[in-house]
Amino acid sequence: MRTHAVAIVGSGPSGFYAAGALLDAEDPPVRVDMFDRLATPWGLVRAGVAPDHPKIKSVSTQYEKIAAQPGFRFFGHVCLGEDVTVDELLERYDAVIYAVGSQTERRLGIPGEDRLGSLASVDFVGWYNGHPDYADLEPDLGASRAVVIGAGNVALDVARMLLLTEDELRGTDTADHAVDVLTASGVREVVVCGRRGPAEAAFTTTELRELDDLPGLAVVVDPAQVPDAAGDADLPKATRRNVELFRKWADRGDGTGDRRMEFRFLRSPVAILGDGEDGPVTGVELGINRLETDDEGRVRPVDTGERETLECGVLLRAVGYRGVALPGVPFDEATGTIPHTEGRIEGREREYVVGWIKRGPTGIIGTNRKDANETVRGLLADLAAGTREDATIASAEEVEQWLSQRCPDLVDLDGWEAIDAHERAAGQDGGRPRRKVVDRTAFMALVREQARAQ
Ligand code: NAP
Repeated sequence: MRTHAVAIVGSGPSGFYAAGALLDAEDPPVRVDMFDRLATPWGLVRAGVAPDHPKIKSVSTQYEKIAAQPGFRFFGHVCLGEDVTVDELLERYDAVIYAVGSQTERRLGIPGEDRLGSLASVDFVGWYNGHPDYADLEPDLGASRAVVIGAGNVALDVARMLLLTEDELRGTDTADHAVDVLTASGVREVVVCGRRGPAEAAFTTTELRELDDLPGLAVVVDPAQVPDAAGDADLPKATRRNVELFRKWADRGDGTGDRRMEFRFLRSPVAILGDGEDGPVTGVELGINRLETDDEGRVRPVDTGERETLECGVLLRAVGYRGVALPGVPFDEATGTIPHTEGRIEGREREYVVGWIKRGPTGIIGTNRKDANETVRGLLADLAAGTREDATIASAEEVEQWLSQRCPDLVDLDGWEAIDAHERAAGQDGGRPRRKVVDRTAFMALVREQARAQ
């Protein structure tokens, strides 16, 4: 049986887990070409995970092992829909897997959402992580109070990043432009607003717990908002742990830290305030909710009609991510995902999907392994069914030739490894894991220097 060729579009965790599962296949054997529109791989592991979470980022060593396997190639600076089309990929490969994640934000749909100083967490996270698309964000962090809308791990990441001290930031791979702004920031208080209660929040306990490890940070919760201990026994284990933590912070009182993170529950943003129609953010109007359990047992926030205003100079919207349609690929607007059955794209042959663009923006990095395995199982079964045996596909060399003509700034695996080595070496002096390059011209200078040296 001939070696089959699979293109994977997107190089984040789900793409890499799919690549690993494909390269493990022997019957038929598979080679993998992975594409990314950026010069750098690893998706949200590089550009999403908070820089003060190096342990989570270290999952990239798994991806390096996959990339080192024979049969794997990386092609950066290749954008589907701009540089290459779906049809062109299908002409050259036995199958294509989309692993592009959820690249935009879920909107709040309230007045003032686009005021200066009202920032999508997708943009802010990309900015502090050195994602080239967000390097020019220039957030104004002059005010002393920031508000974060949302009660998930991304809300917690951005709240923490806003309050880290210079020392806590310096040892991380936070982009240089963000280190400068964050260390000069006036923000000393962040209010994290959840629309439901502590028991319904989406934070994971490990992430919450580590707030206690940040010296000088007072964690503040109104005791009236934390459910009574008498009900703890009825809660699922993870929820109970969260509630116990919130109760501990509530019992402890305001604390003595010079930085303050307050959790304010049962609050939905109603309007983002500022002068006139488009003046910068000066505050947020919050609607106060009560909770109601519906017929399906889901706890829902219900507006009581009461309002409160919270002044702030910057507002982060962290209410979830959303997928973006790929040119020429089916897309479900309602869910922001590609419609599929167990990873096989509906109505298509030889096209598959993995990760957040398959199941929506949920789960931790490891969730993508199982998800990718499901898709790859189906893909391999389709290949083994034999219908592609006589098909003509492009050889590895033909693909490389085609891409180098099509994409003048192509970055191959050697190019990425040169960027990686440069960033790690540049970080050494400051005791940082890496000092990120963010600019396309700078990426290409490193890639071309490496190519010349070969
Ligand atoms: P998430 O976990 O889905 O949390 C979204 C939050 O936004 C929820 O609290 C949700 O409240 C709230 N929300 C949604 N619509 C809202 C609205 N209109 N008004 C007010 N609040 C609203 O999403 P995420 O924080 O973006 O995280 C995405 C995934 O990445 C999650 O699976 C997360 O665990 C993971 N992640 C993990 C880590 C880590 O492990 N360290 C770090 C970052 C992200 P409701 O519950 O009421 O809908």
